[in-house]
Amino acid sequence: MISKLNNKELDQKIKSLARAENRLLSLVIEHIKEADRRKLYLDFNYPNLYDYLVKECGYPGGSAQRRIDAARLLAIEPMLKAKIESGEINLSQTTLLQKAFREKSGTTLEQKRSLIAKISDMTVAETQVHISKALNIKIKEQTKVTHQKDESVRLEFTLTKEQWESLQKAKDLASNATQSNDLGTLIKYLSDRFIKQKEGSTATVAVKKKVLQRDQSCQYKDHKTQTLCGSRWNLHIDHIKPKWAGGTDEIENLRVLCQKHNHHVYHQQAGIKMMSS
Ligand SMILES: [Zn+2]
Repeated sequence: MISKLNNKELDQKIKSLARAENRLLSLVIEHIKEADRRKLYLDFNYPNLYDYLVKECGYPGGSAQRRIDAARLLAIEPMLKAKIESGEINLSQTTLLQKAFREKSGTTLEQKRSLIAKISDMTVAETQVHISKALNIKIKEQTKVTHQKDESVRLEFTLTKEQWESLQKAKDLASNATQSNDLGTLIKYLSDRFIKQKEGSTATVAVKKKVLQRDQSCQYKDHKTQTLCGSRWNLHIDHIKPKWAGGTDEIENLRVLCQKHNHHVYHQQAGIKMMSS
């Protein structure tokens, strides 16, 4: 009875099953490789291995293709069986490899074998980067926008490493609020926040002018020395109590800050906000 296992036993059981699963998978791949070599599918009147695996063996299409990709790699690198068995290489990685080899048809056997060896123990993302670099697969830069019949929009575009990392970080920070891993949800969330922030700080020009006339210079006071910054460069109107904390556009809640202190205060408040939410 699984429900009778204690946590340690359950953990050990899952790990031993995962090992068994990898062992079984490596055997499946090995047998599919042999079926491919013999063209076994012809015996069953299928034109190809894929149809045989889907229609005769009951694999979903994607699973069948991943197994075929791995089997064909195993045919050129016998070491792959042990790597799949040990979990050093998974089927997502072998599929990335085969996809890349199809795109770069001039890849030599030597290059293929060396890549199989190198991607051991890499994550799928690392594997993808490594393969693209090693085979010099060109970067897709063009943005593709497709309007679909339900009026949704399909986007295909390339982010730089920095842009992607920034987006990932935003996703982590927003995950509590969005309850989702979906990029579309994240973009909507970030956009809404930005729009609210921009449109929310609508102190009128007249009010801003009054604040500038009143303060004249940066009103930031050093917490230790209590000295006023007094800078007259790059002045901004700041909400003393932020909008998101219920602060208003009343002149009493506004003050002048220089660019540097505006940023400083913003970061402080953002830090406080993250902790309190
Ligand atoms: Zn200042």
